[in-house]
Amino acid sequence: MATVEKRLATNVDGDFYVDETCIDCATCRWMAPETFDRDGDKSRVHGQPDSQESAERALRALLACPTASIGTVSKHDMGPILKSIPTLIDRNVYHSGYHSESSFGAASYFIQRPEGNILIDSPRFTKALAKRLEERGGVEWMLLTHCDDVADHQKFHDHFGCKRVMHLDDIRGSTKNVEVKVEGTDRVEVTKDLSLFPTPGHTKGSVCFIYDERYLFSGDHVAWSSTMEQIYAFRGACWYDWDTVKESMTRLKAMNFEWILPGHGWPCQFSPDQMKIEMQRCIDWMATV
Ligand code: SF4
Repeated sequence: MATVEKRLATNVDGDFYVDETCIDCATCRWMAPETFDRDGDKSRVHGQPDSQESAERALRALLACPTASIGTVSKHDMGPILKSIPTLIDRNVYHSGYHSESSFGAASYFIQRPEGNILIDSPRFTKALAKRLEERGGVEWMLLTHCDDVADHQKFHDHFGCKRVMHLDDIRGSTKNVEVKVEGTDRVEVTKDLSLFPTPGHTKGSVCFIYDERYLFSGDHVAWSSTMEQIYAFRGACWYDWDTVKESMTRLKAMNFEWILPGHGWPCQFSPDQMKIEMQRCIDWMATV
């Protein structure tokens, strides 16, 4: 839990603050950019929330923070905030909140659908989130993009009985009992409306998931950079092979999607045609680094 004694000097005065335990995962910065930004190798409060909406975003970031590094001086009624998680992104696609330190604060997403709900990557398991997911019909599938973002997958499986899907090349000891293991580099249909698209490179078994030909859940393969103002890949956090990341990016560009919803980095949305242009910009940039 954040403590005032550890409050960073870089915060502006006021109610919200970040303390020195911040691990710089960037979650609060994309969730509530009007409140949080980066200073050195940590986040800080650069502007106190000045509306109910910005205060709610900051409080959701407080709950999402994987290391509980965000605090407030005053007490807030968290009831409505808890009820607003998972938080709607678009149509039936939600941000799960509750990021886990074991996946360095990677984002997880929730799709609510009549045929059975889906979690993409694992959030931190909390009673509050489990209750909210129960109210929305439980979890039928848990889709794991790669070995770094599996967090509390076993707890979600034990609680909801969800079937887990992962690429064989990223199976480790903790994921050896995953129900569906996919091999190779061909696109694989998981459900009628959702497919797994192997994108090796960040790790050998990294995959993306494409839902409804509209949403790309990209794990750590690709994301939007708010500083570069373009789609990019993690050159400095490439654990398998950069040339393979480039090949995967070129194959991925041929797919249709409008949203990129990443594990790390910022989400983004473009029209299908513009997305192809933005993906090519990324490929061109990758050739230079
Ligand atoms: S969410 Fe928490 S750990 Fe991540 S950057 Fe913000 S304060 Fe730091």
